[in-house]
Amino acid sequence: MHLDDAPAPVCAICHNGLYEHELTHQACRPCTERVDRDLTALAGPDGLYARLADHLHPGSSSGGPTVSGSRTAPLPLRVEPLSLAARGGVVTVLQTWLIDWHDLLGYRHPRWDGDLQQQCDQVVKRLRVLLPWAAEEHGAFDEFARELGHLRRQCESATGGERPARRFGVVCTCGATLRITIESPAMRCDTCLTQYDREGLFHLPLAERRAA
Ligand SMILES: [Zn+2]
Ligand SMILES: [Zn+2]
Repeated sequence: MHLDDAPAPVCAICHNGLYEHELTHQACRPCTERVDRDLTALAGPDGLYARLADHLHPGSSSGGPTVSGSRTAPLPLRVEPLSLAARGGVVTVLQTWLIDWHDLLGYRHPRWDGDLQQQCDQVVKRLRVLLPWAAEEHGAFDEFARELGHLRRQCESATGGERPARRFGVVCTCGATLRITIESPAMRCDTCLTQYDREGLFHLPLAERRAA
């Protein structure tokens, strides 16, 4: 069936056209994978949430900007990492989304166990399990993606600055691996000279991550 007057379906997040195998989804594969990476980056003992605790005290941020000649007395705790780390911050925002997802799915209210770090790891794990459903069905998936991306950037700046855009590999039709970032606008394969636009690049299969 083909409806000529139906608007071509686009990703709710990046607004690029969806490929045929993605038509039942609201978000394209690269956007869904970026959401998954944002979730993964927050959790775990080395995750951004755990690192907030190391940056609660003034001067504890390695490489952070030094404010000299400031007229205000230093705060006993740095407000930004504290507000992200405390209840009401990262964990609460994620838990609020999970409650919303459970409601929509008709599941029971999720349970939270342990301290905030443990709750962070639990809620991230659970959101990742339900991510394929949300990317397909959740009416506010774009809002979730934006809010999560914002949380991640806040945590990164509170723990010592943004890191450069992560590079990852995609596999050209000729088999060569192209190293791109989320911002890559276009690229030519050096091996077979195929020119890809942004959309084309992001629909190539991901290269297997090799051990360093
Ligand atoms: Zn997208
Ligand atoms: Zn190629």
